[in-house]
Amino acid sequence: MHDLMIRNAHLPDGRSGVDILVRQGRIEVIAERLPKISIPEIDANGDLLSTPFVDAHFHMDAVLSYGLPRVNQSGTLLEGIALWGELKPMLTQEALVARAIDYCDWAIAKGLLAIRTHVDICDDRLLAAEALLDVKRQVAPYIDLQLVAFPQDGLLRSPTAFDNLKRAIAMGVDVVGGIPHFERTMAEGAESVRLLCEFAAEKGLRVDMHCDESDDPLSRHIETLAFHTQRLGLHHRVTGSHLTSMHSMDNYYVSKLLPLMREAGVAAIANPLINITLQGRHDTYPKRRGMTRVPEMLAAGIDVAFGHDCVMDPWYSLGSGDMLEVASMGLHVAQMTGQQAMRQCFDAVTKTPAKIMGLEGYGLQPGCFADFVILDAASSIEALRLRPVRRYVIKRGQIISETPKQEASLHLSGRETRVSFRR
Ligand SMILES: [Zn+2]
Repeated sequence: MHDLMIRNAHLPDGRSGVDILVRQGRIEVIAERLPKISIPEIDANGDLLSTPFVDAHFHMDAVLSYGLPRVNQSGTLLEGIALWGELKPMLTQEALVARAIDYCDWAIAKGLLAIRTHVDICDDRLLAAEALLDVKRQVAPYIDLQLVAFPQDGLLRSPTAFDNLKRAIAMGVDVVGGIPHFERTMAEGAESVRLLCEFAAEKGLRVDMHCDESDDPLSRHIETLAFHTQRLGLHHRVTGSHLTSMHSMDNYYVSKLLPLMREAGVAAIANPLINITLQGRHDTYPKRRGMTRVPEMLAAGIDVAFGHDCVMDPWYSLGSGDMLEVASMGLHVAQMTGQQAMRQCFDAVTKTPAKIMGLEGYGLQPGCFADFVILDAASSIEALRLRPVRRYVIKRGQIISETPKQEASLHLSGRETRVSFRR
């Protein structure tokens, strides 16, 4: 545990010229012009200092597997699921761990220090769960890794999925997952939601389901999820991920649905990079964009985070672990271009997913952990615009990653100048 003084930082809430005194890995004081003491110092020089980025929806068991065993030609969700089915029997624990650790290194360099990853438990060997539990132990000093037992092939559609899910939870997987829209019928989807919520209530666990990830305006599993959350008293422990069908739902129905979600304290996670590329594939023009109703849910008082979902896997061939790229895509697709809305997009990859994951000690108040990212930008809005380098990534008061400022040197006739794109 480390002591550190950070000078002259700009915070996401707009405060500027702030010093932060860290003692024993926690924030002791945040104030202007703190007196000099003999501990290590960082001069933030007016740069933005934020709590770390948080990704509350990811698939680390598939990360960096793009092209194995072949490339997704159609680029669709269903070919992605089929491809993952081809790849699963070939997976080895060593390769899974190696790819996940490579990605965690990328994440640290990008200031992404908490990740909730779904892990497919439909392989009876539970190889991926074992591998990611190992990764969780290895990266624990740097990254809070939370695992979700995810029945990719359907809880009821895959004969051993529920038993496997229970085994995975017994092994130490943290959260109960589901995929109701992939079950054989709408009724079986609803039944899977009931079974999973009851199991979570019995075990005292959180729930995070892939829910209504389709363009079907009549997919209603989020309603069922809110109902069972309310019925079982699981308030503020349940999340619906994707919710893309909401994009296509009837407006009158949504006006009833959002208050139900709010009442049950159900959070939502949109995955803008993936939703914008996978949804609307059956449309000609106009072509639906598929992302769920983010500003409307925020206005209704529902917590909404943005997740990365995939990086270089059977579903998505791009990505680099940069949550600012995720937030930027979310901002554009949701047309959240107002000042307050842009700040909400920054929150959607920092403090909102931290709340959804239940992270302890996350924040910029005295007593919170000294976990920070210092970015080459003056504000959260400039960070969204530039997606700049993370100058310093700090964990418990210790620098764990450092990146030089990015500047171009222009050699123009009669003029040499440097460009940083900052205002
Ligand atoms: Zn997902």
